[in-house]
Amino acid sequence: MNTPDKICNDGASKSNDDGDGVCEMNDMLQNMSTADFNNSTDISNTCANCGKEGSNNTCNKCKSVKYCNAACKKKHRHKHKKKCDRRVAELHEEALFKQPPQNEDCPICFQLLPTLIKGSRYKLCCGKVLCSGCIYAVQMRDRDAALCPFCRTPTPTSDEEAMKREKKRSEAGDSTAIEIVGTYHDLGINGYPQDHNKALELWHRAGELGNTLAYYNIGCAYDNGRRSVEVDKKKARHYWELAAMGGDATARYNLGNNEWRLGNMDRAIKHYMISVRGGAKNSLDNIQDLYKNGHATKDDYLTALRSYQVYLNEIKSAQRDEAAAYNDDYKYMD
Ligand SMILES: [Zn+2]
Ligand SMILES: [Zn+2]
Ligand SMILES: [Zn+2]
Ligand SMILES: [Zn+2]
Repeated sequence: MNTPDKICNDGASKSNDDGDGVCEMNDMLQNMSTADFNNSTDISNTCANCGKEGSNNTCNKCKSVKYCNAACKKKHRHKHKKKCDRRVAELHEEALFKQPPQNEDCPICFQLLPTLIKGSRYKLCCGKVLCSGCIYAVQMRDRDAALCPFCRTPTPTSDEEAMKREKKRSEAGDSTAIEIVGTYHDLGINGYPQDHNKALELWHRAGELGNTLAYYNIGCAYDNGRRSVEVDKKKARHYWELAAMGGDATARYNLGNNEWRLGNMDRAIKHYMISVRGGAKNSLDNIQDLYKNGHATKDDYLTALRSYQVYLNEIKSAQRDEAAAYNDDYKYMD
């Protein structure tokens, strides 16, 4: 049986401000912290080394034991290391397979934004991600006015004007704008020189600000080594995991495919299941293939089907259907 291919867009994506290009969907919540996956369970205040109460110096790796001071921590390190590593691995697994946050709602129609790239556009004027249905409806109403459907700012008419907005939003810490400018550098388009190092630097910054697509892009860079980095599959996985935990369904699809290739069908199915709920039709198709080949149960497949249907019910709207029927660039579901 053939294992599925990973998806790595070449310089993945991105939205633009004037709506003629297809923008990459930002299926993540802006400003969300993907790093904050620490366990929050209460742990005892007894020093793991000497047993003294009221200890408040936590092991900064596993965050599961406390010490009264750095000396006790150091003394106990040797004894604690194995348990610490195991706990860190457990915490990582818990965080990795937790259902991630959903897409945001479109700020105009208040319906869940679709995961599919063409189903939304990012607007540099106001920093909003708008659904294809609303973009289309306003375009029909305004005809040639070319105003942002949300904030009514005119669409930029030159690269310079667009770059000014990109700079402004980037400086304001808008992670989507930073990711986009990173992608423009990656591809050397829209007035930016091609500079892979700069692209990676910006994606790292955007990722730290909660942009999961930026982490996905970094993962792709390490996976194929076509940019300024050497191929490093371990790093690729690390960044895709960060993206997936933040809600990026494509990154999680890739992780599922990695597990499939390694023969870890249970883990593959877990990844696919989560990304199906996030709108990844390709993950649903893979669960179907695994079911046909006897690696997934009928129950797995039915659960995945139901879960995808729930997602479709959340994103489906008459206005979005009308937009998709009008132009394939507004397609919002597979
Ligand atoms: Zn102590
Ligand atoms: Zn520890
Ligand atoms: Zn909308
Ligand atoms: Zn706007």
